[in-house]
Amino acid sequence: MNYIALFHRLNNKLKRCIVSRRTIATINLNALRDNLALLMDYNSGSKVIAVVKADAYGNGAVNVARAIEAEVDIFAVAFLAEAKTLCEAGISKPVLVLQGPHSQQELYDESTSNLIWMLHSEWQLEAFAKYKQSTVVHKSAAWLKFDSGMHRLGLPIAQLPDLLAKYSSIIDENTVLATHLANADEPIQDHAKAQIDDFLAVALMVNLPICIANSAASIRFDQARGDYVRLGIAMYGSSPFQSHDNPVALKPVMSLDSQIIGLRTIEKGEAVGYGSTWRAARESVIATVSIGYADGYPRHAPTSTPAWCEGQLIPLVGRVSMDMLTFDVTNLSSVAIGDVVQLWGDKLPINDVADHIGTIGYELMTRISARVPRKYIG
Ligand SMILES: *Cc1c(COP(=O)(O)O)cnc(C)c1O
Repeated sequence: MNYIALFHRLNNKLKRCIVSRRTIATINLNALRDNLALLMDYNSGSKVIAVVKADAYGNGAVNVARAIEAEVDIFAVAFLAEAKTLCEAGISKPVLVLQGPHSQQELYDESTSNLIWMLHSEWQLEAFAKYKQSTVVHKSAAWLKFDSGMHRLGLPIAQLPDLLAKYSSIIDENTVLATHLANADEPIQDHAKAQIDDFLAVALMVNLPICIANSAASIRFDQARGDYVRLGIAMYGSSPFQSHDNPVALKPVMSLDSQIIGLRTIEKGEAVGYGSTWRAARESVIATVSIGYADGYPRHAPTSTPAWCEGQLIPLVGRVSMDMLTFDVTNLSSVAIGDVVQLWGDKLPINDVADHIGTIGYELMTRISARVPRKYIG
């Protein structure tokens, strides 16, 4: 028996067991599957594209994709490197690259297969036509994206018939015509409806599949559902609407928790944190929590941004530091070092926090940095 080897093995095991700080993003894959099932019910006539760009909105693209691969038809990412991550992890469903190729060479990438390029500029159509002509085995397909009023990406909608004729070599019955709505989540629906109408007026003249809706449109606009829907934020359990209405009873997938590592009582008039920007209006109990802007919690979060502790909401006070936050916990009946503080998640909707910070749930989720371990349940 090699005792030295045994010792090292045990020692390594022990080291792995040591939990340093308890700042963790818990990703509930059961909630993810439940949300997807509800959304699929809502969109029962359409195939589902699960949008897993930006590391699945911070939830972990590979784990998210594995959890729902059997249910969905296609995954979507923003650019090639994100698609590679999925291919390398063994995901075999097609991956739609929403920005299309960034260069002609990307079309010839050897390390991926089963890609679908969303082509939005004429140079990409030309490049794809060349690619198709020059290779015998086509490992990738192309969809076409049209600009119906968002004016960010897309081929001019008025040129749709001409472009289909000019690039007929890359079009077949599976070529999807897509567009993206600028205001699907806004309270006033006129702009989104006009975009849908303008797009359908042209796209329905040809007999090809259609893809319009993101999460918000897939819930709100029957006419936008088409052959495919692109589901992102709603799958992750955050309401896509500005009003935070949640007509589909979505469950939060990410819960971001940390822990109180310091507690003190300060006198009325004393200040907390860098810049002494917040002063106590009464004798106050201040809890210091081990998460900061280096973890992706926004530095510009103002005093009074809520967190959850011991069943109550507690207000942020003073500036956000790199590694720490300070909260006023004077109103809590009992509080101790080691208590869990939830920044957002199953106890506190991410959109409520986002409202205080002047941002949206999407940004909070996607910004949680690699320093925060993701723990998966389900
Ligand atoms: C990110 C993205 C989506 C997903 O949007 P959600 O609002 O998260 O559902 C859909 N389509 C395109 C083109 C996108 O870039």
